[in-house]
Amino acid sequence: MADLQPVRGTHDILADDFRLHRHICDRAAALAACHGFQEMTPPIFEFTEVFSRTLGETSDVVTKEMYTFDDRGGDSITLRPEFTAGIARAFMSNGLAQDAPLKFFARGPVFRHERPQKGRLRQFHQIDVEILGVPGAQADIEVIALAAHILDDLGVAKDVRLELNTLGDPESRLSYRGVLLDYLAKYRNDLSEDSRTRMDKNPLRIFDSKDKGDQDIMSSAPLLQDHLNDTSRAFFDDVLAGLDALGIAYEVQPRLVRGLDYYSHTAFEFVTGTLGAQGTVLAGGRYDGLMEQMGGRPTPGIGWAAGVERLAMMLGAAPAGDRPIVVIPMGDEAMAPAMKAAHDLRRAGHTVDMGYSGNLKKRLARANKANAKAVLILGSDELARGVATLRNMESGTQAELKLSEIVETLKLHF
Ligand code: ATP
Ligand code: MG
Repeated sequence: MADLQPVRGTHDILADDFRLHRHICDRAAALAACHGFQEMTPPIFEFTEVFSRTLGETSDVVTKEMYTFDDRGGDSITLRPEFTAGIARAFMSNGLAQDAPLKFFARGPVFRHERPQKGRLRQFHQIDVEILGVPGAQADIEVIALAAHILDDLGVAKDVRLELNTLGDPESRLSYRGVLLDYLAKYRNDLSEDSRTRMDKNPLRIFDSKDKGDQDIMSSAPLLQDHLNDTSRAFFDDVLAGLDALGIAYEVQPRLVRGLDYYSHTAFEFVTGTLGAQGTVLAGGRYDGLMEQMGGRPTPGIGWAAGVERLAMMLGAAPAGDRPIVVIPMGDEAMAPAMKAAHDLRRAGHTVDMGYSGNLKKRLARANKANAKAVLILGSDELARGVATLRNMESGTQAELKLSEIVETLKLHF
């Protein structure tokens, strides 16, 4: 056991953080449901090909970041580095094409072997939405509108901006590829090693390079938006018009491409200036070619994923949880009736904790720290009379109440 430390890039999510994470995921799930998305989940691990055949051989995820191992049966297994490929696989495995269009919401841990730093972990969490089987721009508008709604609801909308681009259809990309390669030819030796590989396999992805030298070269590169065919142009115009109609602000960012190879048409990111280098909180796009690449029938898709840890950093703190009633037994003989009172109150729907040890002052201080709305004190002389003392922590007022009528009496108070 190496120093009893968690593995680098993983972290324990302790009580306050957990509440914050749960708040983010639960609000997102509730809003997704209200936009007509159904929650589901693919497994945490899949056969490696599910990811390696779809995310693309030039993606950072496939080339460097996957947690891949042979299991005891000799199968190559990968811990999911993202949700989309697994959800697309589930769509095909379960024969869901006949139910399409489908709108899914998913949440949970994902795994990438990258260099840990602020906002960049090896096990992190995503919330994810996908619309499968809708070829038109209304799906693009719908997923972006849901993202905007969630960010607004979480109170971070003012700190993010939506950047948007189109990657066009395959025909547009193919004709643009030649133009881009002509431009890049004279810079081949100045590009980073990764980008030289991308040049041969998927030159568009060089726009996504985090290397400063690559970025300088790409700042004067010809742009795909000047080489779109009519269909791709019209599709993008529909998306922009739809966002305008909903009053969703955006900036067209002509150098935005996405890290994974399966995207086409719309690509977008919600970015913030408040998190330093890791400024992308939510990112997604359209992936019409994905299902076919996995060996299934062509099925259009669009979706996004957001990093829960990055959202949590933006929110800072969770809204307060349920305020408990704390039951305090003073003396051994009070323990059993206190447990009974707590049990009855819990079964009646109250949030109840026990204040076990220390003198009364200490226990009251602890109850206060737990944000208790009331404490119920069971002392020996009270017990002898069949009563307990209820102290309202808000007003400081105290009242005696009959132990036998505790559930009924508290119904009147809270
Ligand atoms: P980046 O450019 O920051 O590496 P990415 O393009 O790899 O991001 P996506 O694959 O689009 O990210 O994942 C969606 C979201 O998941 C990101 O916008 C981010 O909020 C979050 N995310 C991605 N990688 C990490 C990580 N290693 N640790 C924490 N959150 C992450
Ligand atoms: Mg990444």
